[in-house]
Amino acid sequence: MTDRSFPADLFAGSRFAVAGLGRNGSAVVQTLLVMGADVQVWDDRNPPIADPTQPRLTAAPIETLSGFDALILSPGIPHLLPTPHPVAEIARDAGVPILSDAEILYQAVRRTGSKARFAAITGTNGKSTTTALLAHMLEKAGRPVAAGGNLGTASLALPLLPDDGVYVIEMSSYMLERLHSFHADTACLLNLTPDHLDRHGDMAGYATAKRHVFDNMTADDQAVISIDDSYCQKIALTCIEHGLSVAPLSIDDRTSVAAIASALHSSTTLPGAHNLQNSLAASSMARHLGLDESAIADGLKTYPGLPHRQALAGVIDGIRFINDSKATNAEAAEKALLCYDKVIWIAGGTAKSGGIDTLAPLFPRIAKAYLIGRDASLLEKTLSDHNVAVEISGTLDAATKAALHAAKALHTPVVLLSPACASFDQFASFEARGAHFVDILTHLHETEAP
Ligand code: ADP
Repeated sequence: MTDRSFPADLFAGSRFAVAGLGRNGSAVVQTLLVMGADVQVWDDRNPPIADPTQPRLTAAPIETLSGFDALILSPGIPHLLPTPHPVAEIARDAGVPILSDAEILYQAVRRTGSKARFAAITGTNGKSTTTALLAHMLEKAGRPVAAGGNLGTASLALPLLPDDGVYVIEMSSYMLERLHSFHADTACLLNLTPDHLDRHGDMAGYATAKRHVFDNMTADDQAVISIDDSYCQKIALTCIEHGLSVAPLSIDDRTSVAAIASALHSSTTLPGAHNLQNSLAASSMARHLGLDESAIADGLKTYPGLPHRQALAGVIDGIRFINDSKATNAEAAEKALLCYDKVIWIAGGTAKSGGIDTLAPLFPRIAKAYLIGRDASLLEKTLSDHNVAVEISGTLDAATKAALHAAKALHTPVVLLSPACASFDQFASFEARGAHFVDILTHLHETEAP
């Protein structure tokens, strides 16, 4: 099979409603139309306009769903908590399933007859890294791969893969609540820490959502589940009771760690214990998908890393500048700080509740901190209370310049941008914040170069 597009009549005669036209929603609409379906779309905030060239597309508020095959809700639209969106109530009353785009992808692939396999990855942290790493391993080994979902390409923008292909899908808990027939050949739950509780009620609700990644699996499939936190441990036990093949994931598993230790040692893109967990998970899934140890090692050694996650952004006068703009909370920044003995730290933006209090044990690693954004003074207070040298710079430009000078004066080899805060007060996104950091460094490099 060389044609990677889905047949034009795959969903002919099916009717779908799509609510929310963000990145995922737009891809859903395009792909369903290409597959021959009838589609009604609506977005409360950006009402769509009818396209006369698309006779199977209706742009209208969704007031009834009788006769529809499914409602596809944008990940940002709640169907349960904190309150169900009215369109979710309409679906429930009409007995119409609420599905995620990953479910539709799965159904579409199976309808074509392709036996391509599915790898699903979820957890509170490390999903993107593990997804990208597994996809990289498979690709290096010459397997047809399509990776996406919550990360990068929307599920329904992925191509049709042949029988030996693998879809590697990053799944957020919102997507997982909207699966129906989705059946992963290998699925991984990396970790669970309190997150998104507004949408799931409590930890039990959040854990239940995450558990759906293992739905429909059989003993021939592989459930990779962390046993390093208590929530995941419980889920692992439930899966074992239900007869699934559970591959326990633990950074303390000496045999598994030894199998990848030398490859990981030569990688610069997977630092820290958190990336050991991600690497163990990806390796375990790759093995289940048929890769041998040398292919796995090759993938680990050559993994290029994801942008804005502890990425080397530049070197000036021997000082390494690390872009970890993705660290939008203290927990993520902690992982980065743990990787260096001494850093000049750039942080700040819109702080999450609790600020950076939990980072106090790592403060001795900070030679000096430069703070930016809305909550700089809040962070300054915490740092000064612990006698860390700190300055409020305001902007990332000022902070980066000052950090370079401090790094030289204090003989500190690393400047780390790991903000522990959201970016929205000063930037459009964490990506924009990271990209601006790289720009600043390019200019600084030019002015500082001899
Ligand atoms: P996600 O897609 O789940 O947000 P990423 O792979 O993008 O995860 O990593 C985001 C941040 O989370 C990283 O910068 C790192 O600080 C932290 N992190 C990554 N992997 C893990 C892990 N396995 N456990 C805990 N924290 C992690």
